[in-house]
Amino acid sequence: MNLSKYQKLAARTECDQSRARLRMMGGVGEAGSDLLLPIRLNHAVLGAAGEIGELSAAIEKWIYYGKPLDMVNFKEEVGDTLWYLSLAANAMGVDLGEIAEANIAKLRIRFPDKFTEEKASTRDLVSERKILEQYQCGAQPKPNTAIHKIPNTTLKDEEGILTNIEQDGHGFGHVGPSEYLDDDPKPREF
Ligand SMILES: [Mg+2]
Repeated sequence: MNLSKYQKLAARTECDQSRARLRMMGGVGEAGSDLLLPIRLNHAVLGAAGEIGELSAAIEKWIYYGKPLDMVNFKEEVGDTLWYLSLAANAMGVDLGEIAEANIAKLRIRFPDKFTEEKASTRDLVSERKILEQYQCGAQPKPNTAIHKIPNTTLKDEEGILTNIEQDGHGFGHVGPSEYLDDDPKPREF
């Protein structure tokens, strides 16, 4: 296909970016009940993807170009990725340790004894979901945290355009970054 034609056809299915922008402002939906949440999640996922990219490059060079795999760097990149996943968990007010427990519990449902290709292709997704739902992972609304209930709020954006925004008031307890940075108060760069 002609790439110019493809580009025009692809544009047809682009989402409504103005609504995405509102969500980034914390305006729409459950996850938007904390005004900083979309910003923090964006930081977490962009950063995690970047660290996985660094890990991927090291493994590519090892397997395909015969360069030694630097285990110190390997562990560094795994740790950097974990840091960003912790950021995502902190932003959502959930406990990373309990998420790990839930993951193992789900895998015990999927593979009671050990991995098999047959079990992998015949998953009981309903049972797996029930197990996952038993783990709250600390996602409880907390007092004095940034949970906002702003039904039919009208916000004014940078251009002065008034926008009606509905929020349902549900949200996760926000755990501010200061609670997690006592040991390392400086913003981290990789
Ligand atoms: Mg890194």
